[in-house]
Amino acid sequence: MDLIYKSTRNDQETATASQAILKGLADEGGLFVPTQIPKLDRSLDELSQMNYQEVAYEVMKLYLTDFTPEELKHCIRSAYDEKFDTDNIAEIVKKGDAFYLELFHGKTIAFKDMALSILPYLMTTSAKKNQVKNEIVILTATSGDTGKAALAGFADVPGTKIIVFYPKHGVSPIQEKQMVTQRGKNTYVIGIEGNFDDAQTGVKKMFSDRALAEEMDRAGFQFSSANSINIGRLVPQIVYYVYSYARLLKTGELSHGEKINVVVPTGNFGNILAAYYAKQMGVPIAKLVCASNENKVLFDFFTTGCYDRNREFILTSSPSMDILISSNLERLIYQTAGRDVKKNSTFMKELSTKGTYTVTDEMREQMKDFCGNYATEEETAQTIRETYEKTGYVIDTHTAVAAAVYKKYRQETGDETKTVIASTASPYKFTRSVMNAIDPSYDTRSDFELIDELEKLSGVKVPQAIEDIRSAPVLHDTVCETEDMCKEVKKILSLE
Ligand SMILES: *Cc1c(COP(=O)(O)O)cnc(C)c1O
Repeated sequence: MDLIYKSTRNDQETATASQAILKGLADEGGLFVPTQIPKLDRSLDELSQMNYQEVAYEVMKLYLTDFTPEELKHCIRSAYDEKFDTDNIAEIVKKGDAFYLELFHGKTIAFKDMALSILPYLMTTSAKKNQVKNEIVILTATSGDTGKAALAGFADVPGTKIIVFYPKHGVSPIQEKQMVTQRGKNTYVIGIEGNFDDAQTGVKKMFSDRALAEEMDRAGFQFSSANSINIGRLVPQIVYYVYSYARLLKTGELSHGEKINVVVPTGNFGNILAAYYAKQMGVPIAKLVCASNENKVLFDFFTTGCYDRNREFILTSSPSMDILISSNLERLIYQTAGRDVKKNSTFMKELSTKGTYTVTDEMREQMKDFCGNYATEEETAQTIRETYEKTGYVIDTHTAVAAAVYKKYRQETGDETKTVIASTASPYKFTRSVMNAIDPSYDTRSDFELIDELEKLSGVKVPQAIEDIRSAPVLHDTVCETEDMCKEVKKILSLE
């Protein structure tokens, strides 16, 4: 029996895994969720003897039940190969009182690679399985890291085009350089005069535009999404939580059944939701600590039960978390509302009309596993400096938000449970902020001088992803107003 996916906004809309991956977003703006979260059918002991690819198979087979074993293994093998600079794919590093789960060993040195390396294979396999003849147009809004990881994943993949919108003034210089130098005949990168939420809203609008869908279909195209709302993103992200627990078991850092806490630097709520799914699958996770930067809408939500996006959007040194509408939270809202599409739709409607909604006490009760906290810009910088001074380990700004929140959490609760911090980007991706945090006198240096300094300081070799952009030519320079996003897409597809 195949695992069925349902829309969070319409009980009648169901899909198999491959259909949900192809479609990305359900109709009426809903998200696909599995009708139940499967349990691991291998013991953690067995999993501890497996490598990353094998664990990936054991986890993903439970969700992508309409893929044959051969199809799924092909996708996994093609994704998790030498593109990663370590055979382990994800590394676990013990520093101070935490385990850092390094998720940045892929092609674009941020955790998005963990899922976006495999999504193109899942997508093209899904297209084949469903006899899709149209060319698939991946439409993506990015706060910086998704865009590059999706571009790298989909570049020159036959039968696809990829269009990425990013906030022109809201990503780091290195993030922007990485995107605008992207090669590949099927890649398009556009800056918008707006923030990430504007980009995401614009993309969602195009997805739910029926007339546009019909026009595209006539021209032989259909949209899909590489954003973290696609279950093809979510499922591969569950893997590394299972893998990290199994590894810590293997190395004797954990004893059988011992619980861990997980701290995740959060933006769109995708990564931490994957940890929540891992917990429900049977990984002994106690608390899920949701770490925000100064855009602390999730901290406020977990402390008050009220989600309120009516606030100033703050540009921080952790731009991939500069988000006021955390799309994936809808999956948690839906689940805790008893999988009631009416209730969920009402909340989401309130969010889009009033910008706020308040969940019930019963729902909050079911969210007890989560707790939220946040780090200010100062606390983030201080954490980078302190971690470096105490351990010699250099962490990026996003990981530093999580590390700062972890420290606060321990001070506030006295909880000494062993803790895994999701380390979501290489410090090389945010070199200027990282180096300034360590010593503000670095600020006068150029980006590439700072990169060389960081190499000396950290003893970690400059990643290939950075070497690649030193001299790469800019290939994309389109900038548009938020209102014109659809026009740009039509231009690219030669519609009208
Ligand atoms: C995307 C991203 C995040 C936030 O992850 P979500 O799944 O959106 O919560 C955190 N850190 C980095 C470096 C990212 O690229």
